[in-house]
Amino acid sequence: MSLGEAGRWADGVDFNAARVYAIPLRTRFRGILLREGVVFPGPAGWGEFCPFVEYGDVEAAAWLATGVEQAAVGWPEPVRDRVPVNVIVPAVDPDRARDIVTSSGCATAKVKVADHPGSLDEDLARVGAVRAALGPSGAIRVDANAVWDVPTAIHHIGALDLAAGGLQYVEQPCAEIDELARVRQETRVPIAADESIRRADDPTKVALDGAADVAIIKCTPLGGVRRSLSIARDTGLPCVVSSALETSVGLAAQVALAGAMPELDFACGLGTLSLLDGDLLTPEHALRPVDGHLPVPRRPPTASPELLDRFAHPDPTRVRWWLDRLGRVRELL
Ligand SMILES: [Mg+2]
Repeated sequence: MSLGEAGRWADGVDFNAARVYAIPLRTRFRGILLREGVVFPGPAGWGEFCPFVEYGDVEAAAWLATGVEQAAVGWPEPVRDRVPVNVIVPAVDPDRARDIVTSSGCATAKVKVADHPGSLDEDLARVGAVRAALGPSGAIRVDANAVWDVPTAIHHIGALDLAAGGLQYVEQPCAEIDELARVRQETRVPIAADESIRRADDPTKVALDGAADVAIIKCTPLGGVRRSLSIARDTGLPCVVSSALETSVGLAAQVALAGAMPELDFACGLGTLSLLDGDLLTPEHALRPVDGHLPVPRRPPTASPELLDRFAHPDPTRVRWWLDRLGRVRELL
């Protein structure tokens, strides 16, 4: 995969000033309770490098390209001032789900399902509680993170669609593109592809194979805002810009992408800062939704020195691990 000009831009980034952070999550998400990553300054602002720890260096290179683009040159001009976002409902009980939705101000909710085997009854109760909180005009989408086989997907999607009083779409019900295509033929609920785009050699294959109705686009794992705009265009599908659980530093690139998309038909999955129990931007700059929307940043942010100190990773072994990883991946750009 070509990462464009990131290698050249990286020469302008001050990797010697990189800071490794550790921020607790409020609720377990993707099986983790602590978000770790690195931020670094450049001529345009700060960028973030936070590939999940199990990802190899080649996959991580696209994440670094995004941070380098942000820190070195910034982003293309936006075409809107703010973007709508969904509230994210982790695998929590119905009461908590209702509280999360009610306090969000969002008209769209994304509900995590299939968190563990045998979760269907809990998933149905959670989705029902979300519908009660949103009211009939709200939109509900669910994300299964690729864990179902085809028969399970068809069965669970049907049940969840009923419990939700209509699903907007189901995100990545199965792992493989041919499985998505088979599920898509058997259900009336639209299929959104996430992992099939961001972890694929050819991110547009999912559309060519008739496997999805909606593309989840995350610029952090796709190599930057410019590259994501071109991938979004090439899929030919309506796109939903979604986060990869960044701090406000990295989230800024995602909001910049949503702000620059020529069409934006759905609420974005960018209201994820609430999952973190901390941030690297001061509250007045933090990317927390207001009335269900996020303002589109005009330029890359500057990390707060005080918050960099407060959330500096306390474990020297992990700091070393992240800086070694950054150095190796830098060589791949
Ligand atoms: Mg997803």
